[in-house]
Amino acid sequence: MKQQETVNRAPVEKILTFSDFDSQGSAMRGLHRTLREGTYVHAYLLSGAAGVGKKSLMRVISSTLLCTCETEKPCGKCPGCVQYYDGTHPDVIRIRPGKGINSDRDTERGKDAIVVDTIRQMVQMVGEHTYTGGVRIVEILEAEKMNPPAQNALLKTLEEPPDNTVFMLVTEKPNLLLPTIISRCRHIPLHPWDNALIDRILREQGVGEERRGQTIGVCNGSIGVALQMAFDEEYWQRREKILDQFLNLRRRSDIFSVAAFWKDQKEEIDGLLTTVNELLRQVWLVNFGLLPENTLAGYDAAWRHMAREARGEDFTQMIGFVDKARQQRLNQVTPQAVLEQLMLNIMGVKTKWST
Ligand SMILES: [Zn+2]
Repeated sequence: MKQQETVNRAPVEKILTFSDFDSQGSAMRGLHRTLREGTYVHAYLLSGAAGVGKKSLMRVISSTLLCTCETEKPCGKCPGCVQYYDGTHPDVIRIRPGKGINSDRDTERGKDAIVVDTIRQMVQMVGEHTYTGGVRIVEILEAEKMNPPAQNALLKTLEEPPDNTVFMLVTEKPNLLLPTIISRCRHIPLHPWDNALIDRILREQGVGEERRGQTIGVCNGSIGVALQMAFDEEYWQRREKILDQFLNLRRRSDIFSVAAFWKDQKEEIDGLLTTVNELLRQVWLVNFGLLPENTLAGYDAAWRHMAREARGEDFTQMIGFVDKARQQRLNQVTPQAVLEQLMLNIMGVKTKWST
């Protein structure tokens, strides 16, 4: 087995800048310009799928507004930036569902919601002078979890915004916000990230080439997911094991022992089938040109050959094996029989592409 080049440490939070969001299009350049010129609006709504970079962009905007450096904002070094990234800036109010204001602890009320009391408390705080004499930032994460009274209370504040306060609403589901809230914000929808850009950012974090390719294969254009997964050793060990047991299996005689190994772990079998499906799908996505070939690092040569040469129907047939296995599970076929059949099918395809 090839030695992983990956560093074994959690990523230090990288201070992103606007240039990291270039792939998000011209809206980002306009945003950067207005922040630089001090002509920013009083409320931003950042929306997009999980891990697409909403919170990272929020941090770039907030730190740019709080940065006291004259030239490159955010500089990452001035007291404004440092306090912001430390979570100690006195003019930042952060609201999260079930946590209230500036807290990591669960509150008793509204476990998974942002309740009206929290918004009222925030409104009172923004009515006072800022500590540093600069801008105050109100960050509302998972903003869609504001319940209706909370949304109405926020709306009133957005209608008559206090001076020097910038609201940042972050959400995966903007459709759950009042349309009147949305219309009072500058809405910035974020799109899935370009693979080349994710690759560059992972490289800057010290992630080795092989792991970068594998991560891009599974993160679906989400930079947040990519940064998290690249360092999740447990995930990769499990995946490698499943890859070796199911896709890289060499002898038919091994099928029985692998199936026997999994048959007693009944509650794990659905997750196992999902991973096998994901592994097979990646061969197809590489064939389609949607993923780079190094995604298949760790796959036997036959799969890489298939990714280069095979045609659509070969892949639909292969993906069908997992659907069939799922169907057999529903029909109460024993796990042992389901897995043996699946492995025989996969091996059949693999043999066809072995050189
Ligand atoms: Zn700074």
